[in-house]
Amino acid sequence: MTQLERAAAGEISSEVTEVSKQEELDAELIQSRVASGKIVIPANKNRQSRTVGIGKGLRTKINASIGTSTEIIDMDMEIEKAKTAEKYGADTLMDLSVGGNIAKIRRAVMDAINLPIGTVPLYEAFAIAIEKYGAAVKMPAELLFEITERQCEEGVAFMAIHCGINRRTVEMLRKQNYRYGGLVSKGGSYMVAWMEHNQRENPLYEHFDRVVEILKKHDVVLSLGNGFRAGAIHDANDRVQIQELLINCELAELGRNAGCQTMVEGPGHIPINEIEASVLLEKKMSGESPFYMLGPITTDIAPGYDHITAAIGAALSSAYGADFICYVTPSEHLGLPFPEDVREGVIAARTAAHIGDMIKLKKTDTDKTMSKARRDMDWKTQFSLAIDPERAKEIKAKRGNGDEHTCTMCGKFCANDTLKGMFENDATGTDKQ
Ligand code: SF4
Repeated sequence: MTQLERAAAGEISSEVTEVSKQEELDAELIQSRVASGKIVIPANKNRQSRTVGIGKGLRTKINASIGTSTEIIDMDMEIEKAKTAEKYGADTLMDLSVGGNIAKIRRAVMDAINLPIGTVPLYEAFAIAIEKYGAAVKMPAELLFEITERQCEEGVAFMAIHCGINRRTVEMLRKQNYRYGGLVSKGGSYMVAWMEHNQRENPLYEHFDRVVEILKKHDVVLSLGNGFRAGAIHDANDRVQIQELLINCELAELGRNAGCQTMVEGPGHIPINEIEASVLLEKKMSGESPFYMLGPITTDIAPGYDHITAAIGAALSSAYGADFICYVTPSEHLGLPFPEDVREGVIAARTAAHIGDMIKLKKTDTDKTMSKARRDMDWKTQFSLAIDPERAKEIKAKRGNGDEHTCTMCGKFCANDTLKGMFENDATGTDKQ
């Protein structure tokens, strides 16, 4: 049985208990939300990995995506990227390799770390088709299901599957007749090309029951892929994207009713004033399925700094209720990320998720403790609470003046030192911490 079915049957699984401990919430509450599909726990029966709950009332989780391209194939670097993501606090990792021996790289990554692993099985299916039949459009539909099943057996914990693309949405895209950013989803563009070439319906939509059956067998979370996501600010929330969201929300409910854990993916590129609507629509139309936001990137003009443009979007998304954030690295739109980009991306996404959680979950105690440690120049506490203590210590040490008490920002003009002892109480007049 899946986590969803077990929870619906009244069982509190060890994974539910673990999530309740991590989140400091009642196990019964977690169980009821897993049963209703508002929380998912990626826990493929075929691989032991860290337990992570994603969904309503839980800390916003972040995913780091790695993987080879056809231009850079370096398995050791992918392993280093995976370890970097785990070290700096990613909750999950997606291996999106499309170059080299995809299966071998995936297995090596899974052996190297303990995080739940996500994939897009369609990538491997299309890559095999290119190698074997000379073109992605020649892929036999059956291969999609074979690869999906094989990856489930290997222990992949969640899969982005592009079920929401169908003949009607492709027709809508054609009639719309514009897209400033085209289609930026690799899976989405390959699937549309396959459908157009073969004049056939998307097998993942047509045989959705089969997709659900395969994932359910291994308790893999079905993440309904965002193939028509906007790849430009000016395409955000256009008819095609909303149509795919609507279909994905409907499929999320159908999958859930069949006992499969499901979540829905969101954009993409989006201006900040449209993020709230995006989250609201997904939550209402799906019956509160967890919402997995990719980024989202909030301006198109900052290449080299897209971990920041995405962190702004991620903080707002999380505050409005998104549950899961896919990080973006500084190399977005420019090249394949290296390990140092992974670190930047993970820290930026974790920071954004925390900013969102301060509003969504009203969790502000850590910030209060940090503020007081800063006021009192308690560096040990400051470093222990920092999202990236290593970086904080490094900067303090590099720019030090030998005075461990203050720092070189103000030196002898240190405001905290000048008024030391004046502000020891909190707003109520008593120090509660
Ligand atoms: S020197 Fe300035 S920045 Fe550094 S601790 Fe004192 S007030 Fe803060």
